[in-house]
Order: sequence, then C-alpha cells, then structure tokens
Amino acid sequence: MPQRFVHDSVGARVIFGAGRAVEVPAESRRLGHRLLSIADEAGTEVAAPMLTELADELVGTIGEVRPHVPIEDAERARALARSVGADCLLAIGGGSTMGLAKAIAMTERLPIVAVPTTYAGSEMTPVWGLTADGVKRTGRDPIVAPRTIVYDPELTLSLPPALTAASGLNAVAHCVDALWAPGRSPLTQIMAERGIAALVASLPAAMRDGRDLRAREAAMVGAWLAGATFAIAGSSLHHKLCHMLGGKHDLPHAETHAVVLPWTTGLAIRHMPEAGRTVARALGTDDPVAGLRALAAELGAPTTLAELGLTPGHALAIADEIDTDGLGAPFSVTREELHAVLAGAAG
Ligand code: NAD
Repeated sequence: MPQRFVHDSVGARVIFGAGRAVEVPAESRRLGHRLLSIADEAGTEVAAPMLTELADELVGTIGEVRPHVPIEDAERARALARSVGADCLLAIGGGSTMGLAKAIAMTERLPIVAVPTTYAGSEMTPVWGLTADGVKRTGRDPIVAPRTIVYDPELTLSLPPALTAASGLNAVAHCVDALWAPGRSPLTQIMAERGIAALVASLPAAMRDGRDLRAREAAMVGAWLAGATFAIAGSSLHHKLCHMLGGKHDLPHAETHAVVLPWTTGLAIRHMPEAGRTVARALGTDDPVAGLRALAAELGAPTTLAELGLTPGHALAIADEIDTDGLGAPFSVTREELHAVLAGAAG
C-alpha cells in the first residue's frame, strides 16, 4: 500500500516506574492547587497515601464511579467541580474512573493528572464517552486527554486475574486495530507492534501470579503503548463492530473484544497482509489469527459470542445494520465479509 499519513501527536507527560506513585502529589501541584480527586473503590485504596499528602490542596473527592459514565453522574461531578472551585482533577483507577474525569474536564476545561490501575489505556487518549438513555456516545476533544500520567505497576498488583485478562486483551485489541486505523503512521505501527509484544510476553505470567512485579511492569508498558497508539491512530473496523455488538446487546466490553479480535484480524489481513506479518512477529508465531486465539485461550477468555449469551441470529443481524462505509478501514468491506466474521464469532 502507498505511504500517505498525518501523524497527530497527543502531548502528555508520562512518568513510569514501580514506586513512582509517590511523585503524584508533586506532579499534581505542577498543574493546580485546588484538586478534585476521582477514584473508585479500588482506586481509593491505592490513592489513600497520595490524598493524605495532598490534604491541603484537596477541595473535594468523588468515590463512586460507574461504568460507561452515565450522564447524570457526569452532571453531578461537574456541579461539584464548579461548587468547590476545582482547578485540577486527579483521577486514580481504571477506564471508568478516567471516563468520569474526562466528562468533567470536557465542560469545566480542567487539566487531569491520571494514575491508571488497569490496562484499559483511556488515560492516554483524547476520547470521551457518555451514556444517556442507554446509548453511549463517544467523541474526541484534546482538553480531556490527561496532561500528566503516572504509571506505577505496583498499583496493579491487586488486579484480579479476570480483570488482568480482560483489560489486557482490550489493550491488545487497541494495538491490533490500530494497524489498519485511519490515523496509522510508521510510528504508530512500531508502537502497536511493541505494545502487542509486551502484552503477550507478560499477561500470562501476570495472570498466574498477580504479584509478579516484572510481569506487571511489562504489561503496563504494553498498556501505555496501546493507549498511546489508539490515541493517535484511532479505531477501525474491530472497535466499530464491538461497539455495535456491545451497545445493542449490552455485552461485556473486554470479553467482546477477546472473542471478535481473531475474526476481524482474519478479515483485515486478507486485505493488508503486511499488518498480518506485524501481528505474527509481535506474537512470535507464523499465524497471527491462531496466535490471537491461543493468547485469549491461555488467558481464559471466552471464544464465542454464544458464551456471552448472544444468539447467532442477533450476531448476524449486526452485519445487515452496520454502515459498511463507516468502518474506518483503508479497504472496502462487503456485507458478505461481515456476515462471515460475525458467523465465525457467534460460535
Ligand atoms: P473499570 O475502570 O470499570 O474497572 C473495572 C473494575 O476493576 C472496577 O471494579 C475497579 O474498581 C476494579 N479495579 C481497577 N483497578 C484495580 C486494581 N488495581 N486492583 C483491583 N481492582 C481494580 O474497567 P477498565 O477495564 O479499566 O475500563 C473499561 C472502561 O474504559 C470501558 O467503559 C471502556 O469503554 C473505557 N475505555 C475508554 C477508552 C478511551 O479512550 N476513552 C479506552 C479504553 C477503555
């Protein structure tokens, strides 16, 4: 394929390393002096020492976070930020926590210091999501991209095996889909390949022993690369398909990615064999599709949509409803190809 690209960088200060959460208070003070913290239950536990040190700067805390940012939660959090006169947001937790912080940043135009505790990758992106009347809308706004991100792998030692697998496979999907996404560039291809390699080399070990700090460190490097790649390259047919499946049938986010990824990859690499070679190299295998299946199986992820409770009829109906021109892929996808992908994933 001819090389033509626009590489839109997302500027962020990234601080990485075991034990570096102790630097969060100083990093927060660089951006503001009236901090509003957002942390879910797990985040609150790891945040305690940081928040104690920031007691003089802390003007409010939000301790309840729900998935997919319900609009009423966003409105309540925005009102709190205004009422306490917050000038900076400190978000500690997974993708849902980042999502609520982004919803506040979007309207209140406040900077975010992000301290991720999963591999979802939202902390690296300018992508927001909000759910109203059961429909999740997403969009891009540079203001919601966290200004400083502190990655401390020690904060992930408590992540249970199922969440390690689910958010880790979500990160793999960010990297793989980025290989044919609209904003891909030579740099994002390298980042995606390195991200997949780091994740495949570490997730099984992190699942076996959650307290394996070396594995947690490598997985977090992979998650950072995945988030950064997704932020620049954007999403493509895999994410669009999962988004439709998940939105319409309320399927679990990460598990849907795990089931569908080998099938969308099989389709994409028929059109872009070089992307298939990249995935294979990163996985250390000859067959990228079999390699992705083997990784998901090793991590105990579901392999069919039927296991998630979806009937083949419902899965196939998505192929008829989807706008094949809006898939964000550099090749055209026929309805028959989508039928084959969904029939395969349905199981
Ligand atoms: P999550 O934030 O919902 O967290 C899942 C669970 O893990 C929660 O119960 C949380 O308390 C717990 N948890 C988090 N860290 C923990 C830790 N270290 N130890 C123990 N438990 C911990 O899930 P997620 O997978 O991080 O994020 C998923 C969400 O992020 C989805 O809504 C997805 O759409 C969104 N997302 C957004 C973007 C973006 O760019 N906007 C990118 C990726 C994902």
